[in-house]
Amino acid sequence: MSDPLEPLKKPLGPSTMSVHGGEPRRKLAYSLTTPIVQTATYTWASSQEVKDHFDGKLDERIEYGRYGNPTQRIAESKLAALEGAGDCLLFASGMGAMTTALLALLSRGTHVVVTDDSYRRTRQFLNGMLPRYGVEVSTVPAGDYDALVDAIKPTTRVLVSESPTNPYNRILDLERFAAIGRKHRVKTVIDATFATPYNARPLEWGVDLVMHSATKYLGGHNDLLAGAVLGSRDLVGGIRALQATTGATVDPFAAYLLVRGLKTFALRMERQNTNAQALAEFLAAHPRVSAVHYAGLPSHPGHDVAKKQMRGFGGVVSFEVRGDLDTASRVVDACTIPYIAASLGGVESLIEQPAIMSFYELTTEERLEIGIKDNLIRYAVGIEDADDLMADLAQALDRAFGD
Ligand SMILES: *Cc1c(COP(=O)(O)O)cnc(C)c1O
Repeated sequence: MSDPLEPLKKPLGPSTMSVHGGEPRRKLAYSLTTPIVQTATYTWASSQEVKDHFDGKLDERIEYGRYGNPTQRIAESKLAALEGAGDCLLFASGMGAMTTALLALLSRGTHVVVTDDSYRRTRQFLNGMLPRYGVEVSTVPAGDYDALVDAIKPTTRVLVSESPTNPYNRILDLERFAAIGRKHRVKTVIDATFATPYNARPLEWGVDLVMHSATKYLGGHNDLLAGAVLGSRDLVGGIRALQATTGATVDPFAAYLLVRGLKTFALRMERQNTNAQALAEFLAAHPRVSAVHYAGLPSHPGHDVAKKQMRGFGGVVSFEVRGDLDTASRVVDACTIPYIAASLGGVESLIEQPAIMSFYELTTEERLEIGIKDNLIRYAVGIEDADDLMADLAQALDRAFGD
């Protein structure tokens, strides 16, 4: 697809790209907005047309809904423009994207290295499932580059990591990570869900493949599930071929909601960055709070690297209250603006206590082993007013502690 923004002096700003990037100027039926092509299959005028398609003579034709959809294609083109990627492939969920991408890159007898505080389901897929199919998996501590290099063997094909991580906002040096991969001829994969292309573009630092849970900031309204992988045409093409078999294709309506949500992407990110920064600074100064994990604070161990590679530090602030599991629950329950819910990145602020949300089935000791403290709270800011969010947290902390 030719880029209608080409005649303009580049680079365009993130808001212009959010509104116009990747979309064809002329859409079906002269619609301004991206049409939802709600169909399971596509029709043919004749048997000759079918043959022409399979002979590769027809442009941009789709044969069946699992192989793609025009609404999906526009969403993909928009995300590729925002990420500066050669190609993008959408999935029905972030995990659909991660699992299919890894299955495409790995096979029996190969080896993959993952950093330890990656998304829990990603680690479950790697450590729990892939070994059953003859793939070897090593886990190394996030931020330990020597351990990462040491873990690489002749059979290693992929290094997987995240930045920032959940819930501690640990920052991976993307340039260093990509350089290690290149040196050892191993593909590097970054789950950049927490960063989004507004805050960091890992491909520009040399990373091979970026994945997102588009359910979070990209969709931005807590109303859709989708996932994306982005990289070179070659790499994404191989994953697209596998998706034809494994499925997990994004629904046309979800793809439409994604395009719709992306219009305000830069505005939302800008607001979420400043809201989170304000909240992190407020919490860091609060006597009832013992630790704040936010890369925008100079005290955060990843602050300098984050400053180098990120435009902003994201919308998730994790903090520890002075107290135990129940104290933290009381703080969460006393908040009036954020909803108690898993997920992040939407316009509504969400709050949760990881110990009783994602990690409830573990004991306190098992949780501590993977670094999840009982008194930890994860606050994923929305686009409300920072003053209101801070006033709400202030009263919640007062009430929870009986101050
Ligand atoms: C939510 C999330 C995922 C999984 O995405 P889904 O859309 O829920 O499947 C993967 N990685 C990170 C960092 C996430 O936050």
